Amino acid sequence: MPLRARTLLGPGPSNPYPEATAALGLPLLGHLDPLFLQVLDETSDRLRQVFGTANRRTLPLSATGSAGMEAAFVNTVGPGDVVVVAVNGLFGQRMTDVAARCGAEVVAVEHEWGEPVDAERVLAAHPSPKLIAAVHAETSTGVRSDLEPLAAGKGDALLLADCVTSLGGIPVRLDDWGVDLAYSGSQKCLGVPPGLAPFTISDRAWERRIEKPQSWYLDLGMLGGYAGEAAGSGGRTYHHTAPTGMVVSLHAGLGRILEEGLDAVHARHAEAGRLLHEGLQAMGLELFAAEGSRLPELTTVKVPEGVDSAAVRTELLERFDLELGAGAGAYASTVWRIGLMGPNASPAKVALVLGALEDVLGR
Ligand SMILES: *Cc1c(COP(=O)(O)O)cnc(C)c1O
Repeated sequence: MPLRARTLLGPGPSNPYPEATAALGLPLLGHLDPLFLQVLDETSDRLRQVFGTANRRTLPLSATGSAGMEAAFVNTVGPGDVVVVAVNGLFGQRMTDVAARCGAEVVAVEHEWGEPVDAERVLAAHPSPKLIAAVHAETSTGVRSDLEPLAAGKGDALLLADCVTSLGGIPVRLDDWGVDLAYSGSQKCLGVPPGLAPFTISDRAWERRIEKPQSWYLDLGMLGGYAGEAAGSGGRTYHHTAPTGMVVSLHAGLGRILEEGLDAVHARHAEAGRLLHEGLQAMGLELFAAEGSRLPELTTVKVPEGVDSAAVRTELLERFDLELGAGAGAYASTVWRIGLMGPNASPAKVALVLGALEDVLGR
């Protein structure tokens, strides 16, 4: 079947930066080739810069963002540990499931979808949890939550942040804020194909990790050898075959971001988001996420009364090669999700999506 080029403005994989795609066509390196190990080290350095951390244990895990989530929980919480999870969308829900499978006693602090996390309520939910977890940028609702107040009030607890949709889209400063563990995904604002989960863990969290986690593959203690000096273990030993092509692609995508400059990248996302929000409202459409907490990189908009959500998405795909996302969970057919991630965060893409929507909706 011949593949067609699509403009992916959904919540899933974004269109990769050209540099990240081109890197996939380079000669493949062996996973223990010194050249590859150098690329891996540089990739970890670049990840430290985008995460805003000095954590030496920072690396791309060989799996998607959900594996980053799983690695964070399975290495830090075990049977009976209390975990407070802020739930304001699909990915907060997923965290409660993962934590429960680790045997944790999960205290879920539920929020209305579309609202940001209420730090006061989350911090008051339990007097002494081992871990507090929250999603920085909820891709299911298009909402940003502030991590700083959670970090300020965490006390003895560890703070885990899901940065899958925030990294490379809005500012992430883990060390300034006091976040102990975080993970991301290659395919959202980092503008790289899906397949890797950038991951970072502080020394503070490392000291309190589970000695022998349930997972073999995601046991960070064993990944020490894989990550070499970066993980503080000295030499490298075989753990699994690193997806070398993907790491080279992430390396290139991160290089692209750092060359543009993190501030410039964030400003580009902010501007594109602002233009899209204004344009949608000018068409008489209503935004779903709470004002003041709207993500520029993922916009949720209510499907107008009487409009068939799926039919519009199909027409956008067939006539414009443009992929928009459906809503998540209970909002599957009442909300659209429009991603402006990585290279898609541009006025040209905003014009494309607004024009196509105007055409299809007859507005
Ligand atoms: C996409 C996403 C995930 C899961 O990442 P996958 O790469 O799909 O496994 C987790 N959290 C958030 C906020 C996401 O947007």
